[in-house]
Amino acid sequence: MTQGIILTSFDGDATDIVHQKAEQRHYSDFNSYVASVASWRVEKPVFNIDVCIDCQNCWVWCPDTSIISRDKQMLGIDYDHCKGCGVCVEVCPTNPKSLLMFSEQSGLDEALAAWPEKKKKEEK
Ligand code: SF4
Ligand code: SF4
Repeated sequence: MTQGIILTSFDGDATDIVHQKAEQRHYSDFNSYVASVASWRVEKPVFNIDVCIDCQNCWVWCPDTSIISRDKQMLGIDYDHCKGCGVCVEVCPTNPKSLLMFSEQSGLDEALAAWPEKKKKEEK
């Protein structure tokens, strides 16, 4: 029988871990809380605060808890943990969207300068 290995989330005794604050915990190198996945991305979401209505859709739907929101105010993206899946862009309801995907190498100013205008409703 081939033996596997266990990648523990915390170093040392984790018995009372649920009662400890994040800064008190000893995260192992394998724990996604401390491991950056930024190098996985080809594209990244860019946030345009001028269009955002703080609906929190992106925060609810992000599969990696990488939307930073405090007191129901969208603040930005945790680029250490965002994997660039684009779900947040899909669920953003504003016109134009407040989150758009750009190449990983794009700078913020460059991305904001390329932001699309509001789309007009099509006449019937
Ligand atoms: S691109 Fe994906 S992982 Fe990154 S913030 Fe948006 S939903 Fe989360
Ligand atoms: S989904 Fe769009 S409008 Fe809603 S909080 Fe996120 S960025 Fe802002």
